[in-house]
Amino acid sequence: MPDIPSDERAKIAAIKNVGVVCVLLKLKRPFTQNFWMNINDPRIHIPGLIEYTNLNPLDGNAIVYAPFYMPQTHPKYQRPFAEFIDETLAVMCLIRPDFDPKAEVLAATASRYEFAQTVCSPGFYDALPSMESKVAGLFMADTSHYYPEDRSISESLRIGSELARLAQRQSAVPKSAPRPPEFSCRNQASRPVPGGRRHRGAANYGSRFIFSLWFSFPMAIVLAYLVGMTVAFVLMRHYVFEGHGKAVGPQIWKFTLVNLLAVAQTLVVSLVLARWVLPWAGFTRHIDAIAHAVGVAVPLVSSYFGHRLATFK
Ligand SMILES: Cc1cc2nc3c(=O)[nH]c(=O)nc-3n(C[C@H](O)[C@H](O)[C@H](O)COP(=O)(O)OP(=O)(O)OC[C@H]3O[C@@H](n4cnc5c(N)ncnc54)[C@H](O)[C@@H]3O)c2cc1C
Repeated sequence: MPDIPSDERAKIAAIKNVGVVCVLLKLKRPFTQNFWMNINDPRIHIPGLIEYTNLNPLDGNAIVYAPFYMPQTHPKYQRPFAEFIDETLAVMCLIRPDFDPKAEVLAATASRYEFAQTVCSPGFYDALPSMESKVAGLFMADTSHYYPEDRSISESLRIGSELARLAQRQSAVPKSAPRPPEFSCRNQASRPVPGGRRHRGAANYGSRFIFSLWFSFPMAIVLAYLVGMTVAFVLMRHYVFEGHGKAVGPQIWKFTLVNLLAVAQTLVVSLVLARWVLPWAGFTRHIDAIAHAVGVAVPLVSSYFGHRLATFK
């Protein structure tokens, strides 16, 4: 990719991976009854044996794999495949002394893969390159983008759909063209997650009652707001605005700014209602609760647009 900007290139190059040599065996019959057998034995240099056909049966034969994970620079990494196959069979004989490789093994192969397991050091998430490259039309991801999840086919499908959505959003909507709302990918991508606001509202509103046990009403409102906002940031970033392929630092400070404006709105509306409007209207009970409920609801619209146009843009 000659056109890729140097900062993106550097981020990609900075991702470190452990390599693997993976031995794959076809056996006449299952080796164990287990799909996944973890191994923690100093004599054995594989972390486990995985017997796929105990999860998804095949044609009566058994498929087993044995991964030898190690740094690509490890002297053992470049050994011939035959040696890894022999070592795997020796391990299997150690586990099951009655196992007879000559009689049981129908086929054996191995493969070597440099980028088998990403090494996730502190600050890894923020150092990841964006899945939407600065090169127009280039979208990229690999197993490192599964973070914080582990490698799996499910994650691969999730990231694949996310890439497709990003590409669809960019290609389906030329910037100059007016777009009908029903076909707007941007709208699709940033539609509120069902229940997302409810969770944030519930956390905000509900925790105020708890904080009120120790703090004054204004302080309880602010603390409850902080609880609600933490819940909101996580939900919005992951489900509403698809912000999790981008750097989290700028998102946090923009999110904080938008919410400082919103908390001011909540505070003013709640206090004006509780101190003056509700007593004037004849309310005598649950004044704080009603005032705060309205106060929490008012900035929902303004902060939604703030996050859409600034925080997660
Ligand atoms: C040893 C090991 C064990 C694993 N065990 C499990 C497990 O038990 N369960 C589970 O759910 N997940 C497991 N995983 C993870 C799972 O395999 C991956 O998450 C998944 O395969 C990723 O799918 P993918 O399609 O994104 O990439 P891949 O499966 O890696 O497919 C990418 C393809 O692109 C090809 N390719 C690369 N570059 C080019 C190019 N320039 N041009 C054309 N083609 C190219 C590659 O040859 C490859 O075929 C394991 C991974 C490893 C390494």
